[in-house]
Amino acid sequence: MIPSEKNRVEGKNGCSRKPLGIYVHIPFCRQKCRYCDFVSFAKGSGDPDFRQRYIAALKRELAQQAVLLKDRYQVDTIYFGGGTPTMLDVGQINDVVEEIFRLFSVVGRDRLEMTIEANPESVDALQCRRMEAGGFNRVSLGVQSLDDALLRRLGRVHDARTSEESFKRIQGCVTDNINVDLMFGLPGQTAGIWRDTLVRVASWEPAHVSFYSLQLEEGTSFYSDYKAGKIDLPPWDVNRQMYRSAVKHLGESGYEHYEVSSTALPGRFCRHNLKYWTMGEYLGVGLAAHSYLENVRSENTADLDAYTAGEFSDKSSAESVEEQIGDYLFTTLRKIYGFEYADFKTRFETDFLSEFGTTTEALIREGLLISDGRSLRFTNRGLDRTNLVLSRLLNREGGSHGK
Ligand code: SF4
Repeated sequence: MIPSEKNRVEGKNGCSRKPLGIYVHIPFCRQKCRYCDFVSFAKGSGDPDFRQRYIAALKRELAQQAVLLKDRYQVDTIYFGGGTPTMLDVGQINDVVEEIFRLFSVVGRDRLEMTIEANPESVDALQCRRMEAGGFNRVSLGVQSLDDALLRRLGRVHDARTSEESFKRIQGCVTDNINVDLMFGLPGQTAGIWRDTLVRVASWEPAHVSFYSLQLEEGTSFYSDYKAGKIDLPPWDVNRQMYRSAVKHLGESGYEHYEVSSTALPGRFCRHNLKYWTMGEYLGVGLAAHSYLENVRSENTADLDAYTAGEFSDKSSAESVEEQIGDYLFTTLRKIYGFEYADFKTRFETDFLSEFGTTTEALIREGLLISDGRSLRFTNRGLDRTNLVLSRLLNREGGSHGK
């Protein structure tokens, strides 16, 4: 269901508030992975004073935002991402969590989803106690692969054994609601290596598994190596075979494929990420964090000095209806069940098929989209060509381009 006016929640004084997700960006990492273009860095990350300055800036930003938002929203998901949030010192995570609870209206703990991202090398017994004390009831663990040679190639600082030990430690002391992040389409990765990782991860029985194809991003060391001909990636058909084998294998192990790159055991969907895929509202705080509130998209500065000096926001713009429709299709079609025409009509007061009927029919004829008359979603073939389908839909192109 789309978080909207329909699921407003009653506030303390009987006033209704809209649900809100809060994303907190922690940009510190032990070492920069060779494929990573996230706003994260290793330099200075080990310095407690430097981290404390960042936390102080985060709290100032939260306070500024709370003045504007606290009477209209109630927080129902909190997500600490990065970077490696579990690199923070004792007390720093709790400090930010307590500030959110002090400044915002938050739903009861039983209804709150609180996720923290962790990397295997950062999850020792002490860190587990920190996560537990902070009230986190979901952990997203960056495992990526269980092949040690591949992990070294990616520039990860953990090995497969550390990943498994960290997973069990979290399960034993924080929560069993754990997501495992995996990557495929890696240089030197074969279908067999990928299948072995899937089989071993499924045997741990995590609540949620996400799997992403490697993207070569400009500015990363992988990108330069690729351009210099130093690394080869698996061909496109092997990449797609890896994607399908993840869906198949995890499906046979009881995981529901509910979003292009996400599967979960029953009832374990990520509610915070679902906000992104349903045009729900969220506030992002921290370096380069993004927010989407009342049809306005905004982005924080990626300049660390500016951020710690309190110059948080970089740009923001109200979306036109046309842009909102583009975002709606781009995000809702990421869900395996797509979107309902009735929901589109409620949101945009216009009929989807009268706007996009010709292109939609062409894409259905080509076997890229499928409709049951009430909703629209990708076919398996369409899932391999999401960018092509979306670009044709948004440009309202009819013709036959699907290969
Ligand atoms: S741990 Fe994550 S955020 Fe940090 S460098 Fe590696 S991929 Fe990037």
